[in-house]
Amino acid sequence: LVRVADLALYAAKAESSSAFIFDEETLATRLEQNELAAALAGATDRDEFVVHYQPKVDLATGNHLGFEALVRWNHPTLGLLAPGVFLPLMKGPRLIGDMTLAVARTVCRDLKAWKKARFTPGPVAINLPEALLINESGFEMLASTLRECELHWHDLTIEVTEDVFLNRHAEHMRTSMMRFREHGVSIALDDFGTGFASLLHLRDFPFDELKIDRGFVADIGQDSRSEQIINAIIDLSRNLGKRCIAEGIETETQRQFLLEAGCTIGQGYWFARPMPCREVREWLKQPMTEAR
Ligand code: C2E
Ligand code: MG
Ligand code: MG
Repeated sequence: LVRVADLALYAAKAESSSAFIFDEETLATRLEQNELAAALAGATDRDEFVVHYQPKVDLATGNHLGFEALVRWNHPTLGLLAPGVFLPLMKGPRLIGDMTLAVARTVCRDLKAWKKARFTPGPVAINLPEALLINESGFEMLASTLRECELHWHDLTIEVTEDVFLNRHAEHMRTSMMRFREHGVSIALDDFGTGFASLLHLRDFPFDELKIDRGFVADIGQDSRSEQIINAIIDLSRNLGKRCIAEGIETETQRQFLLEAGCTIGQGYWFARPMPCREVREWLKQPMTEAR
């Protein structure tokens, strides 16, 4: 590693422009980011992405209904990194698409092993980036991964965030979603209420499920406006015939509020943190009375 102080010195000589930031801390961060971005480009090929699973549970009983697959980057020296650290550094839609296909392959292998061991995990949700949604080959590659593992489309669900609506090819996106839908994949709108979806999108796009963003859930008991928004999302889902699921449930108060408001499915640390595949079955053996 080049020492940050050396680099600052070098930069000072090379560029006398005031645009250059000499603050060592910022420089260090930028350096790290550049290094991470460069390493990320080959991370799929080096098989460095790992998948953790977080259960989706019945809020009344704590029974698991399925899982969400969440990617982590096992960096050779820094250890496991959360997607919030590295996704923003991924340059271009192709890298994110390839990473997500690698995630899907891992999920399918894990699902196959679980089924072989007579464990029925329920459908596993994959967070699908726009790149895989608009690209025909994304669908084909997922289809062939499923076939290789002798799985069915209904073994997966997909989650998309509202930023897919920033894309100008809305009609194309809709057709693509319909294709997944026709094959038995249910589609969730993730982080609902924080992005670019309009009510028109809710009306016209084939979503089966709305996921209440964890920002609203965190405010339960603290901010009645967020509570009213949650109530409105639950009503909206019900009136449109969609399922509603809450993310980021960390307390019993939140669980209870959501349940009383009519939201019956959720995810969150109160039930389980995302965990590696090998821990899933241990988690399932724990009693369901309290937070697990
Ligand atoms: P998301 O799909 O909305 O996932 C939920 C995030 O909330 C996860 O963060 C999860 O670990 C976190 N979470 C779950 N329960 C709680 C809780 O009780 N409290 C708090 N504070 N957080 C909770 P994570 O794993 O860091 O993932 C962040 C985002 O990265 C995901 O948001 C998703 O948009 C994206 N992502 C994850 N895996 C993939 C992937 O395979 N492909 C793509 N394209 N994006 C992915
Ligand atoms: Mg998600
Ligand atoms: Mg979310």
